[in-house]
Order: sequence, then C-alpha cells, then structure tokens
Amino acid sequence: MPIQSLVDRRTLIGWTAALAAGGLGLSQARAAAPANPFQLGVASGEPASDGFVIWTRLAPQPLAPDGRGGLGGSLPVRWEVATDEAMRDVMARGEVSSDPAFAHAIHVEVAGLQPNRPYWYRFSAQGFTSPVGRARTAPAPGIMTDRLRFSFASCSHWELGFFSAYRHMAAENPDLVLFLGDYIYEYSYAADRAGLARRHDRAEEIADLPAYRNRYALYHTDPDLQALHAAAPCIATWDDHEVQNDYSNQWSQNTDATPQAFLRRRAAAYQAFYEHMPLRRAARPAGPILNLYRRLAYGGLAEFTVLDGRQYRSIQPCATPTSRRGHVAPLTCADFTDDNRSMLGTQQEAWLYQGFSDARARWNIVAQDLLVAPFLQKAPDGSVGLYTDGWEGYAGNRTRMLQALSDSRMRNPVFLGGDIHSFWATDLKADFSKPDSPTIATELVGSSITSDGPSYEDFSAMLPQNPFVRYFESRQRGYVSMEIDSQHARADFRVISDRNDPKASVSTLKSFIIEDGKPGAVAV
Ligand code: FE
Ligand code: CA
Repeated sequence: MPIQSLVDRRTLIGWTAALAAGGLGLSQARAAAPANPFQLGVASGEPASDGFVIWTRLAPQPLAPDGRGGLGGSLPVRWEVATDEAMRDVMARGEVSSDPAFAHAIHVEVAGLQPNRPYWYRFSAQGFTSPVGRARTAPAPGIMTDRLRFSFASCSHWELGFFSAYRHMAAENPDLVLFLGDYIYEYSYAADRAGLARRHDRAEEIADLPAYRNRYALYHTDPDLQALHAAAPCIATWDDHEVQNDYSNQWSQNTDATPQAFLRRRAAAYQAFYEHMPLRRAARPAGPILNLYRRLAYGGLAEFTVLDGRQYRSIQPCATPTSRRGHVAPLTCADFTDDNRSMLGTQQEAWLYQGFSDARARWNIVAQDLLVAPFLQKAPDGSVGLYTDGWEGYAGNRTRMLQALSDSRMRNPVFLGGDIHSFWATDLKADFSKPDSPTIATELVGSSITSDGPSYEDFSAMLPQNPFVRYFESRQRGYVSMEIDSQHARADFRVISDRNDPKASVSTLKSFIIEDGKPGAVAV
C-alpha cells in the first residue's frame, strides 16, 4: 500500500474515533449552531416601477446529494427592504415559509415602492442574516428618464474558467443585468481535457431534479456570480444547456429518448431554473411548462421583450436518423425553407408581433438566446451551409418576425443574443438575399463568460459572404455593457484578460453607437 494511502487511512481512523468519542456532544453542538443557510447568496429580478422580486435559497449544505440543501421541513424566513445599504430605513418587511417542494427557494414579490431608485434587501433565518443585495425599481410608466445602464451575458461553463467577467459586470454598478442563456451547463468535460480551471460537482451529465438543483447551487456558490446578483436586479431567459445541448421543445438531441422521457427531464430542469432565479410566481412551473416570455418597461426610455427560444420550437431541422444535434447542413435541406417551422411557437409569435405594434418606448430591446442574422458558414466537407440549431433552422419564423417588425415601424428595435460564444454586430435586413435591402433592426451578440468560442479563422473567412455582419470576434471572453439615452445607445464589448485567472482584469475591445432612428451599430 502506498504511504499516502496509509496516512489517509490513519487520518480517517483517527477521525472516526474522535467522532465516536465525541458522540452526543458533537451532534448537540451541531443542533445548537446550524450551518449558514445563505451560502448561495441573494438576488433580485423582474424590476417594475413599484417593486421587484428578491430571491435566496436556504441551503446549509449546498451540494447535499439528495438536492435538498441539507434541510428537511419548511422554515420561517424573514425579509426586509430598505432605502439605505445599512438597512436602517426599512420600507417593507415580511415573513414567509420556505417550501421543501421548491428546495427552500424564496421568491418574494415586493410592491408599493417608489419608482427609479435603488433599494437594499436581506433575509434572515435560523439565527443567520444573508448578505445585503441592491435592487432598483424601474422608472414610472411613460416617464422619459435621462439614461439606463445595463449589461448582458451568456454561456458560463464552470469548468472552462473563473467568473471574472461577472465580477467586472458587478463593479460597473449597472441598473440591470440580462442573462441570455447557458447560465449553467449540464455536461462536464472529460478528465483528460487540458486547461480546465475547475471541475463540476459531478462528471456525468445531469438529468434529474437533485442533479439540476446541485448544478445551480454550485454555480451560485461562486463569489463573482454572487457579487453580480447582489449588485443589480436581473432579467433571465434560457438557452439549451439549462436542460440539454440542442434540445428542441419535447425532443432531446438524442433520437433514442422518447418525448415522454425527455419532458420528465425538462420538468426537472425547468423547476431547478425557477428555484434558482429571481422570477415572479407567474413563472412557477407546472410539470414541463414554465412561462418565461414577457415584457418589462423602463419608463418611456426602454422596453425589454424577453423571448423563450426553446420551449415551443418545431423539432430539430435536418436531423439524421441517429442524431438531432446542431450541425452545418447544406442549403438544400428542405427544413431551411419550410414556412411552417417556428422557433417561438404560434402563441409566442402572435404575442411578439402584437407587441411590435403596441410598442411606445424609445428603445425596444429584444432579449433572446441566439444570433438572429443568417450566417452562411462552411460545413466540414467544405460546402456552404447553415447551422441547424439557430434561427436558420426556423427561418420561416425569422421572416415573419422581421416582416412584422418592418410593418409595425417600431422605434429602435435592438436584438440581443448569446449562444455562439463570440461578439457580433449585425444589420438585420428586410431581405437578407439583397445586400442593399434596408436594415430594419440592430443586432448585438455578447461573447461568453467562459465558454469556448468558434474558430476565428473559419468564421472570418466567411465574412465576405455575409455582408450584413459589421463586426465579429470569437477569441475573447466577456460581456456587453450598454448605456442608452433618448438620442443614442452605446454598446461596449468588454473582455477579460484570462478566463483561467481568478483575478483577471477587464478592458473594452470595441464600442458601437446606435443613433435614434438609424438602425445599425456604428463602430466608434
Ligand atoms: Fe453556450
Ligand atoms: Ca447554446
């Protein structure tokens, strides 16, 4: 037996003996002093002009294998909201019972507050007090405020780096943060993958409720993500990895999974998403259904339309008998021109187009998960094709969406996206087949917080065939910070120095301005 194992074994024996000798005394000490239940931090979200949601989840043992966070029955939790960081001037307070059926996650919908100002909040339970978080109410309906500052982020694989980008987002003190999907990843890398910064809680792909809960719990133990949630309210939507790579509605990427089995998995994943995000009770899931698409107004200056690009999709296009995974398929694939296919589903499409007609804000931001512009790329065999998992695979829906947008004459539409792990500024065209077709909306896509970008050389080589792309960069990790006023929207593409450095610095890679009434981001 190697010496190291002997030492470990001796240590273990010593421990066991000490536990046996300590016996009752130790368990009494534990009962008197339970572990801190606020190890997952606090968050706020869904800002309205009179309030917001405040969130925490009690979990004294965040990674307890049963996914219950080390707790049993429900516990009383007190909350308070104050006008000052020291929590002296308390404007609202209450007590709720944690629900073990929702993993002791707390979602309090605070109302009756003043518009357009910061508030601070905290929770207490079991003799512990949570960290203090800062939220912010939206301006009163229709009121044109001077400016709004927000950032958007996507794609934070825990194993591929530290969350320095989140820390720098927090340091900018934005009014609002948008998460555009792949907030967690369901899969882990093989042990022989070089350069992993850290490991997930388990190596196998997660597929049941305890495992999804523990994956969110792991991510929420990250100090940089906790700092970001404590700094600003958020609005979140999802992409695929909150459930499974490239899933579509009730269809797994794996052709051997039945819709029934996949919907059970989706129900577990959606429940864990709800439990770990500061969402309103309207989003509380019922089985495999969670209502996520919604609108949030920021006075007269901005409105955010948040889309769900996964739950209602048509089946994956151009699938092979053995896989429904995303891939570059030849332009001849009939699904690319099938007008019956939908990314958003009939109801969400109708709701979206009605919203375009009703929109009255100066800036109308569409927050969703994917690159909207139809990027022509090369398949492994060298032929030109389109990527099946993005908007290309649902092109009929994109055509309807851009037509509805054009018909509505909605002011300053700006689409924000993620998923593709690279920075983009594109012109969304009335007709992409004609390069001189009018630009009807601006598109900006953030990089990734940590996840691997696509090949810079391969994508760059295709840019001449994609004239609507104003900017592309896949070699750096980061996020996008925006500041909008009545005349301009400014976007700063922010990059971190090194995803493997927990103390990485941040800088601005590129900045763009969009002028009121002139779609298209102009580099500055
Ligand atoms: Fe991703
Ligand atoms: Ca994705």
